[in-house]
Amino acid sequence: MLQEPLFHISHDACIKCYSCVRICPVKAIRVDVNTELPSIIPERCIGCGSCYRSCSPHAISFRSSIEETKSILASGKKVAAICDPTISGEFHDITDYRKFVEMIRQLGFTYVNEASFGVDLVAFKYKELFENFRGKYHFTANCPSVVAYIEKYYPELITNLAPIVSPMVATAKVVRQKYGSDVQVVFIGPCISTKDEALKFEGDATINAVLTFVELRQLFNEFNIRESQLEFSEFDAPLGYKGSLYPISNGFLQAADINENLLTGTVITTEGRNNMLHAVKEFDSRIELIRRNFNIFYDEGCLMGPGTSPGGEKFLRMTLVTDYANKRLVSFDKDVWEDEIASFAHLDLSRQFEPDDQRLPVPDDEKIEEVLKMISREGHMDNEVGCESCGYSNCRDLAIAITQGLATTEMCHVFSGHNRQEYIQTLRSTNENLATTKAALKESEEKAKHEQEAQKESAEIITTMLQNLLSGVVIVDDDLKIYQSNKAFIRIVGEEAAMIDEVIPGLVGADLKSLLPVHFYKMFSYVLTSDEPIENKDVQFGDIKLGVSIFPIRSHKYVGGILRDMYVPEVRKEQIITRLTEVIDENFEMVQKIAYLLGEGASKTEQMLNSVIDSYKNPGKK
Ligand code: SF4
Ligand code: SF4
Repeated sequence: MLQEPLFHISHDACIKCYSCVRICPVKAIRVDVNTELPSIIPERCIGCGSCYRSCSPHAISFRSSIEETKSILASGKKVAAICDPTISGEFHDITDYRKFVEMIRQLGFTYVNEASFGVDLVAFKYKELFENFRGKYHFTANCPSVVAYIEKYYPELITNLAPIVSPMVATAKVVRQKYGSDVQVVFIGPCISTKDEALKFEGDATINAVLTFVELRQLFNEFNIRESQLEFSEFDAPLGYKGSLYPISNGFLQAADINENLLTGTVITTEGRNNMLHAVKEFDSRIELIRRNFNIFYDEGCLMGPGTSPGGEKFLRMTLVTDYANKRLVSFDKDVWEDEIASFAHLDLSRQFEPDDQRLPVPDDEKIEEVLKMISREGHMDNEVGCESCGYSNCRDLAIAITQGLATTEMCHVFSGHNRQEYIQTLRSTNENLATTKAALKESEEKAKHEQEAQKESAEIITTMLQNLLSGVVIVDDDLKIYQSNKAFIRIVGEEAAMIDEVIPGLVGADLKSLLPVHFYKMFSYVLTSDEPIENKDVQFGDIKLGVSIFPIRSHKYVGGILRDMYVPEVRKEQIITRLTEVIDENFEMVQKIAYLLGEGASKTEQMLNSVIDSYKNPGKK
């Protein structure tokens, strides 16, 4: 059956703190360049659960086996629970392990077995392997995260993995031999990566589901199973012996009676993320000098595995494990155990490993230097300098991860700090520019408002003046449609215009051709086309004589006309003044001749003509 990935990151809950990226020992978490959100790359993951433990907003979850277990229990088949010996460290809130066994039975399990018997079986195999040294040193292969790490990141070392199944698989084989091949097996343990390990086995080694202790507690709650309501119940045979010390890393060696003596022994035990990483690295490069087998675990012993309840105290758990082992030994029947061991001695507990190389090509130095320059860390090419806050042990490793597409430049604090400063600076100057622009805008808005008001005012003045002029004024567009006209124009044009004015004040839009005779409006057409003014032309319009001036206002677009009724006394007087002035100005020579003929001086004649003008301007003046 296709399984979903072991771990999943909820992007809704993620706060982008990158704790997971920092803690992941194999850089199996890629940060998306655009969203800056982390995602786990399942092929690269070794299932250690460090990311899951480090994520404070609980954005990381692991594949649950609760529903799977419930359906196995409901299948009607016999189901065996195999309990990891770490139960003693985890379930110290349950007063007696026999109550714990009964609680599991209450869930519907037919058999409840101890994985510590599997530990005992496997321990014999290790003793044999280590004591019959044939020139090759080994890693113990009990921790699935260690196995996955070597398969994926040191595939050339897989032949150094002890070719022995884990206690979980060994116990599954024991259970099937004892209860029949159709029995379903559910392993209950402290580890999350066993969920993936279980998928690799079939036949009598099949593990049908793996529950962590946390999931088991959820099932107890869901089915309301409490120890206070239950009686004691013992584990089903075969019972384990010193395998109950397995949760403590070197407890496994004690279970196998393997020599741990520093002077004479051949096995080094180490545990914890960093120790495990260093151990494999040193094994790879220095095993000829080290000349030891490595008993290694990813966690600080299985008792601190990621499937245990959070907040566990290591040394308390260690004490609980040893107390439990001692308690069990009080009534332990070693003869029975030896018989059981003998009856399962023929089981095939061998195992092969498959290389699954997940190493990424390392970019060339030029590319790395380019990235280092980008994050302002040039010169950090050869040394091991780095604050490690990005999750990589030095700047060079981060640069490599960036080129491999696993990390982003923003993960470097120096880079993002620098960027932030630049951003703040840009923001500040943008804000300043914005404030200046805003002020300028306000100023020009006010200016425009004043200009608009001034324009409106002057338009009103001009309109008032226009309306009160004695002369008729009309402005037409290039279609000879009236744009504006005054009262005097309407009066000159006559009754028809006055009627239109009542409906359309100022005759706006009326056709000039319908109001004036052909010879008259053609003068407007002429000025529109030629762009040349017509000045003071006398035009007969019905009974009245008009002094007409037509002039372009906007070239070929608008023309204006001024019509003076020559019979209106003021106009007439004004007209005579204008014309006499023109005569004096333009025909001064002629004035001199007239003066000569009259026998007068030119200046006297001019004086005389000016007095005529004066008398027209000021009729009462003597
Ligand atoms: S630890 Fe990882 S998954 Fe959890 S919030 Fe931080 S970045 Fe997100
Ligand atoms: S489980 Fe371990 S290896 Fe997998 S992503 Fe998390 S930290 Fe990395």
